[in-house]
Amino acid sequence: MTEAAAQQTGREPDVDVVVVGAGFAGLYLLHRLRAAGFRARGFEAADDVGGTWYWNRYPGARCDIPTTDYTFGFDPELEREWTWSEKYAQQPEILRYLQFVADRYDLRRDITFGTRVEEAAWDDAAGLWRVRTSGGETVTSRFHVMATGCLSVPKQPDIEGADRFRGEVHLTSRWPHEGVDFTGKRVAVIGTGSSGIQSIPLIAQQAAELTVFQRTPNFSIPAHNGPAPAARVERLAADRAAYREAGRWSRMGVPGEATELTGVGTPEDVRRERLEAAWEAGELQVITSVFADQGTNPESNEIVAEFIREKIRSIVTDPETAEALSPRDHYFGTKRPCLDTGYYATFNLPHVRLVDLRTTPITTITETGIETTEESVEIDAIVYATGFDAMTGALVNVDITGRDGGTLAEKWADGPSTYLGLMTTGFPNFFAITGPGSPSVLSNMAVSIEQHVDWVADCLIDLRDRGMTTIEPTPQAEEGWNRHAADCAAITLHPTANSWYMGANVPGKPRVFYPYIGGVDGYRAVADEVRERDYLGFRMSGPDGERCTDGVVRRLQPDVSAVLEAMAQLDLPPLESMPPEQLRAFMDTLNADRPQGPDVGEVRDGVLLGPAGDLAYRLFRPASPGPHPVVLYFHGGGWVIGDQVSDEPLCRDLCVRADAVVVSVDYRHGPEARYPAAVEDAEAALHWVAAHTGELGGLPDQLVVAGWSAGANLAAVVAQRARDAGGPALRGQLLITPVTDSTMATGSYRENAEGYVLTAGVMRYFWDHYCDEDRRSEPAASPLRGRLDDLPPAIVVTAEFDPLRDEGIAYAEALRAAGVPVEHVNAHGHTHTSLSMVGVVLSGARFRAEIAAHLRALLPETAPV
Ligand code: FAD
Ligand code: NAP
Repeated sequence: MTEAAAQQTGREPDVDVVVVGAGFAGLYLLHRLRAAGFRARGFEAADDVGGTWYWNRYPGARCDIPTTDYTFGFDPELEREWTWSEKYAQQPEILRYLQFVADRYDLRRDITFGTRVEEAAWDDAAGLWRVRTSGGETVTSRFHVMATGCLSVPKQPDIEGADRFRGEVHLTSRWPHEGVDFTGKRVAVIGTGSSGIQSIPLIAQQAAELTVFQRTPNFSIPAHNGPAPAARVERLAADRAAYREAGRWSRMGVPGEATELTGVGTPEDVRRERLEAAWEAGELQVITSVFADQGTNPESNEIVAEFIREKIRSIVTDPETAEALSPRDHYFGTKRPCLDTGYYATFNLPHVRLVDLRTTPITTITETGIETTEESVEIDAIVYATGFDAMTGALVNVDITGRDGGTLAEKWADGPSTYLGLMTTGFPNFFAITGPGSPSVLSNMAVSIEQHVDWVADCLIDLRDRGMTTIEPTPQAEEGWNRHAADCAAITLHPTANSWYMGANVPGKPRVFYPYIGGVDGYRAVADEVRERDYLGFRMSGPDGERCTDGVVRRLQPDVSAVLEAMAQLDLPPLESMPPEQLRAFMDTLNADRPQGPDVGEVRDGVLLGPAGDLAYRLFRPASPGPHPVVLYFHGGGWVIGDQVSDEPLCRDLCVRADAVVVSVDYRHGPEARYPAAVEDAEAALHWVAAHTGELGGLPDQLVVAGWSAGANLAAVVAQRARDAGGPALRGQLLITPVTDSTMATGSYRENAEGYVLTAGVMRYFWDHYCDEDRRSEPAASPLRGRLDDLPPAIVVTAEFDPLRDEGIAYAEALRAAGVPVEHVNAHGHTHTSLSMVGVVLSGARFRAEIAAHLRALLPETAPV
């Protein structure tokens, strides 16, 4: 440490915390910090408090979360003193509210207005932040909090010629305080997101001519504004605390009922009733949850989308305009839907016109108007409702330098990386309120902001209590959170849209899903848990040393976790407590209600002759014209349960994705027919299928053996035996979470012994019913012990939370060492059983797609998909 740095170490910073921004977030944070005895200073670029509601003063600006809920809930006294006038309050009222909050808690005295924070640099030696403002001031602080908003940096007009226009120019997000009078003017509005959709009807009331330039139509439903809905007000009045708590533990930050009804499969009249009710309710939280699966299932989503398009057609009289206003390029909800007051009807007015930029793009803006490929429109005023550099804009706009001299902008060049959306490694004591990776913009932000502020304030108090001065997430925790957030998004339709949630509205911005879609409730549970587990994933340090409980807070795929929770609720007896007959019947009952898997071209049942009698098989043929490669498939079930149809959804999925005939053949089970009966049957099935490929509609020399679990054990074994016997020739072997060794002593057995359906106890039961102890190390029971050279290429699939994981990995490694080409698919966040739960565990789909892609690569004559 240099002498200068050493001197600085002893120096106290000017303040404990610098807070940047004075909207909802900055105000509440300053209040909490002061109450906890911290010295804090706020900086705000605007001349007053309000944030979003200071800047966005365009006509029609309102909230789109009911104001009963879009409000602070931390102080019952505050709530008693303020009553909202409308279901959705207008901008002036929300601004007045935030001014009232600032006054009530005397917050302005800690805020320097009209001042931008331009730089913040972490001084590692001194353990503090050095903050430089536009006023030329430098302030040092122990902690630096960006309460700078998710939607506070306007996207600058990016249209050719924009700077040439000589008429009036307004940005909805930087609206003049004195208002704008459009009376008698020819006005253009560019942009039809929430800001455009709210302002267009009111601008139309004044303008002589209004031309709306629309690049992408958006879904909007009527807000039905007016007094707050009586039921909600009554519920709130009856028990305010319970109502607020319900909001905090809801998915979106607004209390509501979740449905289990799916769009597909619900009778038309019930669907209609729910959709009409949602249209009448005029609430985002209702229209986005008409069906449980509308955010994940394209068909269900289309039901909602088409309902709204139908409404548009019923309102807009000109069919061409109605069609142009009807969104068809994104799933409903994947761009933020809008709430409007008379938006669609505005296009029936004689002086209002829609220009569809999809068919006639803008070529340039001139001194006097806007030119498209079709026309030149003379304009007096242009209103840009073109949105924001959302989520990261305000953070990377400040020159923030971390411990190693790198900037936040550099670290996030390929997309933001955070732990809980709150902190990022390399930037100690640096917090963001509602940062990327938090529920933020997908929620009622008043609730999310309070949650984040409370967490940060509690964290600073905890640090102080423990004598700690710095906190920073660990790389492992941050990477785990990024992965979890991406996993949550991946099972939804959201990543398919060119939305600002994906960064798609700003040219050059990295395309990732910026917010966390696991829900306000799910997120709160995680944040609480992290704190309860001694700040899991954070490293703290202070004069007395360091402490760190490293780890990843959510490792399971979100839908795998949901299935496990649902199963835990059933309180089932341990599977190994049931005799085989009972276990088989039990599994049949469970399987009866599951989705069947995708449609295939043909399903055919047959029998083939095995060494001890007939073996039933079920064949799945793709819809595409044959002949096809053939996959001989052996089902899972620990050699004790299951049959040729027990893995039907997985077989159908494989058939469709790999474009191959899948023949699922049964085999004899233990304990009735113990080892090596199943092996003999599997071997016989292989010879039979190879000999009958043509009759099965298969291509010669395009045969693969495959299986799941115990079935994958059989597939591996018959591949070895076919090599030894000089045939049949195999193109490959697909081993999905295979049993490869009987020792049951790997690390994955210890880690995953309990809790993930296939337990160590169940596996012991299977081995005991299948194979005598003294024969388990034979290669035909434990293929890992066999000779592994000269085998067909393998695709080995392992699941992270599977007792069998390590023996699968060991098999893949041993095959590779023996010179066999291997593709290893590592299904992170999955259990032994979840990958096969087609149509239930959606996160398995991408791994099955990966498996199929590898399979197709082994089968050159499959059609490219
Ligand atoms: P903001 O309100 O954006 O405040 C951030 C402040 O930080 C700004 O005042 C900005 O000037 C300041 N700042 C930024 N960078 C600097 C810097 N470097 N130096 C100094 N100051 C800086 N959300 C909902 O949940 N429901 C709604 O109904 C809703 N309606 C919305 C309507 C509009 C028109 C918009 C744009 C957003 C809406 N939102 C809504 C989202 C809204 O942004 C949040 O609800 C909430 O107001 C954000 O509060 P905040 O304090 O986090 O950020
Ligand atoms: P937005 O949703 O990003 O909409 C911007 C609009 O401008 C889009 O229609 C976009 O088209 C268009 N656009 C952008 N650049 C363009 C260009 N170069 N040429 C032509 N068109 C262009 O922004 P926003 O309306 O300001 O809303 C942002 C978010 O703020 C909302 O989603 C919401 O979360 C919040 N908000 C809420 C309310 C409310 O009701 N309470 C009101 C306003 C804002 P493309 O879609 O093709 O990019």
